[in-house]
Amino acid sequence: MDERDKIKHFASKDKLEQYLIQGKGIEEFKKQEKSLFLGEFRERVIKALSIPQLHEEGTYPEIEEAIKDPRAKKLVINRKADLKKAAEYIRLAKEYNLQFTTVDSENIQDQIGLVVASDQGIDVDNIYVKERSEKLRELGLPQGVIDNPKGKLCKKCYDEVKRLAPEELKNYRPLSFFDRILGEKCIGCKKDNG
Ligand SMILES: [Zn+2]
Repeated sequence: MDERDKIKHFASKDKLEQYLIQGKGIEEFKKQEKSLFLGEFRERVIKALSIPQLHEEGTYPEIEEAIKDPRAKKLVINRKADLKKAAEYIRLAKEYNLQFTTVDSENIQDQIGLVVASDQGIDVDNIYVKERSEKLRELGLPQGVIDNPKGKLCKKCYDEVKRLAPEELKNYRPLSFFDRILGEKCIGCKKDNG
């Protein structure tokens, strides 16, 4: 094999093989590759959430989508995270027959809270999920809507979420007739219009 073929050959190997060829050893490989994503290889990760994102009210539709992905096999949650806040993700994972585990994160800097992973390398380009608040701000939704997932919205604000971010709709409820009689206001525009 000439040098060019060697490089081609090397590049065709997966990362583990590359490590072994370079003589770095399997332990080193595991340490480098696995510590970052709650024990899962980067190439197997479909989506990951940070701990603060996991702790937010409501659920990230991106994670729901990842759990429903037919390649998804596993939901892993960092033991440093509050499991109560992850209840809805855990429920969904069960519904879709994903294996569920929690792990101790050895790396202090590891702020990954949740990982949805496959059982094989799939190399998803972007495994991180944009901050929900940032996404909604960019879409131009009112601050009250951004700050209050799980809140109730008037018809106008509800329709606005539906139009701009339909995947977030399940994080809100419409103000009911009785809510309005009881004087409850829309968390988006602070009005009680239906
Ligand atoms: Zn409103």
